[in-house]
Order: sequence, then structure tokens, then C-alpha cells
Amino acid sequence: MKYRSLVDLSLLGIIIVQDGCIRYANRMIAEKGGYSTDELMTLSPAEVVQLIHPEDREIVWNRMLSRLSGKQEPARNECRLLAKDGTVYWVDVHTNIIEYSGRPAVQMCIVDITERKLAEEALRHSEAQLSNAMNIAKLGYWEYDVVENMFNFNDHFYAIFRTSAEKVGGYKLSPDRYAELFLHPDDMPIVADEVKKALETTDPHYSRQFEHRIIYADGQAGYISVRFFVVKDNQGRTIKTYGANQDITERKQREEALRESESKYRTLVENIPQRIFTKDKDSVYLSCNENFARDIAITPDQLAGKTDYDFFPRKLADKYRADDSRILETGQTEAIEEKYSPAGQEIWIQTIKTPIRQEDGRIVGLLGVFWDITARKRAEVEREKLQAQLNQAQKMEAVGRLAGGVAHDYNNILSVIIGYSELAMDKVLAEDPLRKDLNEIHSAANRSKDITRQLLAFARKGTIAPEVMDLNSTVKNMLNILRKLIGEDIDLVWHPGKVPGPVLMDPSQLDQILVNLCINARDAITDIGRITIETGTATIDADYCAEHAEFIPGEFVLLGVSDDGCGMDRDTVEHIFEPFFTTKGVGKGTGLGLSTVYGIIKQNNGFINVYSEPNRGTTFRIYLPRHSGDISEKPRTIDEQIVNGGGETVLVVEDEIAILKLTGRILSRYSYNVLLAQSPSEALKVAQAHSGKISLLITDVVMPEMNGRELANRLKILYPEIKCLFMSGYTANVIAHRGVLDEGIAFIQKPFSTKDLAVKVREALEK
Ligand code: ADP
Ligand code: MG
Repeated sequence: MKYRSLVDLSLLGIIIVQDGCIRYANRMIAEKGGYSTDELMTLSPAEVVQLIHPEDREIVWNRMLSRLSGKQEPARNECRLLAKDGTVYWVDVHTNIIEYSGRPAVQMCIVDITERKLAEEALRHSEAQLSNAMNIAKLGYWEYDVVENMFNFNDHFYAIFRTSAEKVGGYKLSPDRYAELFLHPDDMPIVADEVKKALETTDPHYSRQFEHRIIYADGQAGYISVRFFVVKDNQGRTIKTYGANQDITERKQREEALRESESKYRTLVENIPQRIFTKDKDSVYLSCNENFARDIAITPDQLAGKTDYDFFPRKLADKYRADDSRILETGQTEAIEEKYSPAGQEIWIQTIKTPIRQEDGRIVGLLGVFWDITARKRAEVEREKLQAQLNQAQKMEAVGRLAGGVAHDYNNILSVIIGYSELAMDKVLAEDPLRKDLNEIHSAANRSKDITRQLLAFARKGTIAPEVMDLNSTVKNMLNILRKLIGEDIDLVWHPGKVPGPVLMDPSQLDQILVNLCINARDAITDIGRITIETGTATIDADYCAEHAEFIPGEFVLLGVSDDGCGMDRDTVEHIFEPFFTTKGVGKGTGLGLSTVYGIIKQNNGFINVYSEPNRGTTFRIYLPRHSGDISEKPRTIDEQIVNGGGETVLVVEDEIAILKLTGRILSRYSYNVLLAQSPSEALKVAQAHSGKISLLITDVVMPEMNGRELANRLKILYPEIKCLFMSGYTANVIAHRGVLDEGIAFIQKPFSTKDLAVKVREALEK
């Protein structure tokens, strides 16, 4: 019984089977299956079979039977049993044939191995997974057994080298053979070094990753990345290394290509004169080229992470930031022209900013390129300025022609109005009420005459009698009149300069210029102020002319009139020389003052410049050509007393019939014998038909058939003694160059008054 209790309590399960029935089962095995020992021992042979897992029944049964049929050696088997509740458990079974109750029986010693079996299962499973993972990652697995000095590989290991285990001859290779087959000769030292370190290391967790070149089975070169670990024995010696290889040839090639193109672009970027930079989507600098870095006094590698606020004044940085945001937002490339002063000195640049996009089109930053366009900009500005000046000159020319034409016709009409109103006034008594009306007509017409005179001056069609004169003394003579004109509150300062020579000009024109400019200056000064008149010289060179369309080079005499009045803005300055341009209220300004000045100066081949700033005052500078001749005698003064004729015969030629008649009537009144002709041919006929002497020819200058000058010459053949008096509204280059009369020629400007005519006629006759 001692043995029995031992067996019963054993951790081993023990069963004795005889004739298909369980003759004995210990507690251990019974409880394992969820039975009692008695229960087991009452099972029929068919029920005993049910205790075995269906898949294992045959083996177990065969083994048992074979035991009984002669072979007496013990056997060992692993199989699955079923518990009463259906759970499966693994057992290791030792079978023995024994004598039981005098007959052979099978004794089974049973150990539960379920736990071990499950562990094995799990291991198999994870190995399969590992292998799958390696295949998916295209990893070549290897183990190196240090003791055996052999490499072990998986299939994929060979696939990496573009070969297979069959071709190479199995899954094992010696390190030498491996090196010979697959290592790139140049990288052998790298690998040898890694191996050496792996063997020498004392670190049980040593692991490494490195890259080296290989040779594929087809002879091409490639790259792999190796990651490996070491296994140590309990003495700390490395007995094994294992790891995985990965083909990285493609990545390496991409990297190489990138590096090559990078360096290509780098040389490109560094060698062009343009400035280049990139920024991210928050306007933070990423990179730039040397040229740009130098501008902002850094090196390119100091740039990353900085913004425009680190290099430029706040306002400018704000502007750059705004440009950036717009481009990042709209995705449009923009060309921006702007000022830039990297080293204090200001230049013009053109910046092209273009968004940088990712492959999916998302904007991740921007690229900027800019370069110096100062030269182009300057040329542009100059061209624009010259064009504007030219346009202005052309406009003035056109307006002048128009004004001149109108004034000329208007002048003729005025002559008629003035003449007839004078004649009519003579015929009514002083107390007659009509006399007052006629007086009004007469003075209105006279005022109109002033306007046409100014217009003609502007149009350079006024007739002038230039004299060679000294600028300083002429100005000085005018000072008193000018002082009266501007009033006591305004200082008039006179700075005569050294004037190199005389100018050739009609003195009344110079008076006119001074008066017009001083009146304007006076109007520009609110209460008190100062007007300065100065003279001097100016040399105008070709460079200056290149920038000022209307100027020509030469030596000039300068006349300047400045005031410290209200000044003008640019818009006003642009228009001041146009006739009828005025900023003064209705009835205050005619807008003819400066246009007259302009016309006079042009007629005398001079120029005028104006400098003005609002609230700063204004300076007009007039440049008159220096005259090389001497100063002439003062012209004779007219004796206005002797105006009556003595019956001399006067031939009047004028195509305007009204003026012709008027002139005739005036001259008759002053006791002249008058012959009238409406055209030069008629005049010649009348002259030929006339029997007596003809003392004077009064002729219009511009007429359809021939001009007054020619007519005079023709008549001189018939009447060598004949005197001439020319009259004209304008002279249009016919009587003399640019409306300037030859010296000594008698001339009367239309419109004229009765008295004017009488005086001029007398003068002409008495020459
Ligand atoms: P007007 O004096 O009849 O207005 P002008 O031709 O003399 O005509 O002048 C034209 C305009 O030029 C003036 O209305 C005025 O606006 C401006 N101007 C001329 N001279 C000066 C000056 N010295 N200071 C300020 N503005 C001036
Ligand atoms: Mg004026």
C-alpha cells in the first residue's frame, strides 16, 4: 500500500489499460480530465477511446496494440487528450507492457506538456510573422556563428544580391566567400572594422547600423544598409552576431543626383549678379546667395530663421511682408520695382517674387530674385521728363498759333471800332449824351487792345523794335515804377550782378517782363514780404540741354525775380505759361501775365525756368542770349504836336476794306490827299494812274498777292522819293525775321488810334 499511495499522489498520471478498459487510473490523471478514478475504471472500451483527441486516436491505439503484440520496449509519444468538459490538453506518454493480474497490460505514465506545446506554437507563429515582416521590408536576414565561422542567410538575403541559395550553393557561406561574392572591394575595410568591433565589444546590448557598397551578382555596384546585434556567452564572449541588410541603392542614387544638382544650382546661384533668397510661408528667411548676404552684412548661413525686420527699417520690412503675404495668398508671381539702399546709397531694384509649391501644389514659401535697375530707371525718368517738356513746348506752340490767329483778326476789328468811334466822337458835341456812349465804346475797345497785344506777345507775333541795351541800367530805371506797383509792405531788393554784355531786345518787352513778374510776386505775398531782382550770367552746356528740352547751349545773361510768397504746387507750375491759366478769382487775374513773358522770351531766343514750392516762394530765371554788338543810341522821341498833314498824297493799301476806309477817313481829316487800294496790284494801278507826287505809302504787311515790302520796292521804281509806313497786326516772319523790323523802318501796330496814326504818318514823312 505504501507504493500505492506514492503512485496516487505522484505528479505523474498513471493508467493501466487491459482489454480496452482502464484497469487502474491514479488521482492525478483522473482529476486532470475532470473524472473520478472509479468513473474512469467503469468506462467501456469505446468510451475509453473517446478520451483521446480524434486526430491522435489512431496513433495512440496503434501504439498500444503494437505493445501488446510482441514488441516489449518502452515507447514515448506526445498526444492530445480530452477532458470531460471538452478542453484539449497535451501530454507526453511513456508506455510500458506490464503484467497485471497475471496478464499483459499497458501501463502509461502521462505528463502534462500543454504549456510547453503552447509556447512552441507561439514561437512558430512569431517566426512565421518575422519572416513575413522581413520579406515585406525586403530585409535580408543573416546570422554569423563566430565559433563555426559561418554565415547563415534567408532567401531574401540572396534576393538583395540578385541571386538565390541554389545559385550560390546553400544557406551557409564562409565570411571569405561572402566577401568575395558580394562586398565592394573599396568598402572591405569598413566591414572588417565593424566585425572587429563587434567581436571586441564588452557591451551585451551592442548594436550597430552602417552602410557600405556591394557588388550584385550581375556585377553592378550598389549600396546596403546593415543593422546587427551581438550575442554573448556567459563569459562575455561574442559567440554570434545577427542582423538584417536592406538595399538602399535607389535612395543613394537619388541622394547623389540631388547632391549633384544641388551643387550645380549652387554654383549657378552663387555666380549670378542677382540677389536670390527664399522664405517660408511665414516670411522667415530660409536661404540666400552670397550677393544678398553681403548686402545685409551677414553670411548666407546666418540667414536662416531671420526676417526682414532683422535687416531693414520697420516701414520697409512692413512693405516686404505685405508683398510676401499677397504673393503667398494669391499664388501669383509679381515683379515689383522699388527703392533699395543696402549700403546707404539708394538704388532702384526690380524684385521678382514667386511662390514655391510642394508637389501637391500647396504653397510653402517664396523665392525672390532682384537686381539693380537704377540705370534703366534713370533713363526712363529722364525720357519722361524730356517728353513732358517737349509736349509742353508743343502745346505752347499750338496755343500760341491759335491765340495769334485770333488776336490778329480781332485786332483788325478793333481798329475799325476804335477808328469809327473816334470819328463819331468828333462829330457830336461835347454835351451831347451820345458822346458819353461813344466814349464808353472807345475805351472798351482800347482795353481790348491791351488783351490782343498781350496775346500777340505770347504768340511771338507782336511787332518789336529791339535795341542793344544794358540789362542792369534798364532794370534800374524800372525800379521806381515797380516799387509803386508792389506797394510799401513789400521790400524790393535789387542785386545787380556782373553782366558780361548787352542784350538785344525791345526795352518795352523787358519792362513788360518785370512788371508781369513783380505783379505776380506781389499777388503771391499775403501781407509783408520781399521781392528780389538780380542779374548775372549763366553758361548753359550740352549736359544741361540734354535734360531740358527747350534749352540750347551758350553764354546767357540771367535775370532772376524771386519772392517769398505762397509758392506753387507742381500741378500749377505745369500750367502757368498757358494763356488764360489763372488761379486768381474772376476779375482778378487774366492768366495772360506769364504767357506774355513766355512769348517775349521765346521771341528773343531765351529761356525761362521756374522753381517753386508751396509756402516757400518762387523764383523765375530768365536766360537771354548775350549780344555781341554795342549799345545803340536812344531812339528818337516822337513830337506829338506836329501831327497835321499839309496836303501830301498818301497811298493806303489794305485788304481789309473796313480798315482801308477808316484809314482813309482819318487821313483826310488830318488834311492829307488819300489814294485807296485794296490790293497790291490795285495799288500799282492807282499809282501809275496818279499824275502828281505820292509822298507816302501806308501798307499792310501781309497781303495775298505780295507783301508790303515788295509793294514798296515796286512803287519806289515809279516814285523814288516815296516814304513808307508799314502796319500790321502781326508780321509773321514776312517783313523781317521773327517779326523784328529792320532798323529804321516806320511801323504802326494795329489796332491804332486816330492820333497814333497821325503821329506815325507825320514821323514817316519827316524822316
Ligand atoms: P494771373 O496773374 O492773371 O493769374 P499769370 O499768367 O501772370 O496770370 O499767372 C498765372 C498763375 O501762375 C497765377 O494765377 C498764379 O497761380 C501763378 N503764379 C504766377 N507767379 C506766381 C508767383 N510768383 N507765386 C505764386 N504763384 C504764381
Ligand atoms: Mg499775373
